[in-house]
Amino acid sequence: MGAATHDVTNQATPLVDYNVYGGDRALRDALAHHLPGADETGRLALGALLGSEAMQTHARLANVHKPSLHTHDRFGHRVDTVEFHPSYHALMSAAVGHGLHATPWAARGAGAHIERVANFLMFTELEPSILCPISMTYAVTPALRGNAGVFNDWFAKLASTQYDPRLASIASKTGATMGMGMTEKQGGSDVRANTTRAEHDGDDAWGARYRLIGHKWFFSAPMCDAFLVLAQTAAGLTCFFLPRVLPDGTANGRLNAIAIQRLKDKLGNQANASSEVEFNEALAWRVGEEGRGVAQILEMGTLTRLDCALGTAGLMRGAVSIALHHASQRRAFGKLLAEQPLMKNVLADLALESEAATALALRLARAVDRQDDPFETQMRRVLTPVAKFWVCKRGSALAQEAMECLGGNGYVEEHGEGVMARIYREMPLNSIWEGAGNIMALDLMRALKKRGGTSGDAVQALDTELATTRGANVQLDSFADALLVRLNDGAGEETDARRLAQDVALAVQASLLRRHSTDFMFDAFCRSRLANGPQVYGTLPTGTAFDAIIQRAMPH
Ligand SMILES: Cc1cc2nc3c(=O)[nH]c(=O)nc-3n(C[C@H](O)[C@H](O)[C@H](O)COP(=O)(O)OP(=O)(O)OC[C@H]3O[C@@H](n4cnc5c(N)ncnc54)[C@H](O)[C@@H]3O)c2cc1C
Repeated sequence: MGAATHDVTNQATPLVDYNVYGGDRALRDALAHHLPGADETGRLALGALLGSEAMQTHARLANVHKPSLHTHDRFGHRVDTVEFHPSYHALMSAAVGHGLHATPWAARGAGAHIERVANFLMFTELEPSILCPISMTYAVTPALRGNAGVFNDWFAKLASTQYDPRLASIASKTGATMGMGMTEKQGGSDVRANTTRAEHDGDDAWGARYRLIGHKWFFSAPMCDAFLVLAQTAAGLTCFFLPRVLPDGTANGRLNAIAIQRLKDKLGNQANASSEVEFNEALAWRVGEEGRGVAQILEMGTLTRLDCALGTAGLMRGAVSIALHHASQRRAFGKLLAEQPLMKNVLADLALESEAATALALRLARAVDRQDDPFETQMRRVLTPVAKFWVCKRGSALAQEAMECLGGNGYVEEHGEGVMARIYREMPLNSIWEGAGNIMALDLMRALKKRGGTSGDAVQALDTELATTRGANVQLDSFADALLVRLNDGAGEETDARRLAQDVALAVQASLLRRHSTDFMFDAFCRSRLANGPQVYGTLPTGTAFDAIIQRAMPH
């Protein structure tokens, strides 16, 4: 028998087979506030599934075995197919099966979007990249009402909870997903620079039909069944419905002329395919009026931006859970890491940020849910850019710090099946796509400068929102007062837009923690974030309830 060269000691166990929902006190308390009395049975079941070893294995495999593009078959015919690992399909099947894509549009009742949001956030903790087509389907489905023929033929398939990845005509499918194509080489934020042309080709049961000639530089999830894309007509930028398979009456249909040029080689988001495409007289049907494309895309942007904030909040929760789990098992200098005073500060600070992110994302979801309420419409206008900007900005820094809690293991792909590294690589994406940070900050500034609408304006709405917690904390009162003075004074210059977005986020987050978190979370947030602005993580002031915060955030 050889000498024992390496007994493995003092290594944490993997965080596996736990209930992602059950241990998430922040999410549960926020939901109890927005959906009082709602039944948690379904969420607890989903939470158990998402924390299971089997699903974690699917998440790992779908990222390790990246999608591959096949442009032609072996005889030289174009096939434009992306092949995925079976685990990708298992994840998609679970996401669609739980209605994360379009079911709120079918359910319609109050709270349907908030229910979805909770499930979406939890799913992100398991695997975020497959949620790209899920989010896009959620965002484009209501816009299809701009073409009654398409909407009638597609809506039931888009809202179906059956995942059907076959490339086939819509009539023969049990479910469908959709993507979005705006970004071109010469402009992404500035979509008015789009050069793809649309030429009128005739009319049929789906209305005005066009031929698209041009390209898209980022075209994610190209195996979706259809896409909403922007192209130029004589009247300007217009929105079009572009199916992958043409409705020629056969079950297999005929492939539309969408040539996938190549897949992007991305930093993260590996399980999802993002492509570059060319349209060689691809057939597309107009959605809405000619020349109204930008306005329509902006409407969809609210929903994808909600998902960017949610997705990041989910990733943050995932990272904090792993960090807490690790620190409660790993010992250094005679104590568990979670017992070392300075590490307590880091862990508590991360937990605080994660809960504040969840709170802000759910507040936006409530505004999306109450589409007919004028106050919530104003809040949606404010909180969409604020949540997308702030949560995504804080997410990347949080991932780095959570990784550091694991020491060297955090940086290694293999450890914890590479989850921390995967989270870290994924984080910046939500900040970039669907409107990068500056675009969000400028969008907020525009919303806040528009004063005096018939049903109130965004500044008044923010004032009303913050008034609900006035008097609860001196720091919050003076922070909110100063912010409102600034807004009533014209909201400042473009160069101040990021500062503005940050301050609105902090004021709303503090107010939300007062409404549905504990006193010690609220107090720690006001003392650390409002006095001097956010600092490097691990700088909560002396006297903070470190142990209580850590205990609240423990994933199990
Ligand atoms: C993985 C991935 C998947 C994607 N999938 C899709 C997809 O499916 N469909 C799709 O249409 N697009 C997709 N995108 C594209 C994405 O939405 C764009 O990259 C994004 O909107 C930014 O556009 P851009 O790359 O052209 O950058 P630019 O527009 O050139 O912006 C570059 C920088 O300049 C800043 N900026 C721009 N204008 C101003 C201004 N006026 N003032 C101050 N700063 C400014 C921006 O904030 C940004 O930081 C995807 C991107 C990625 C990374």
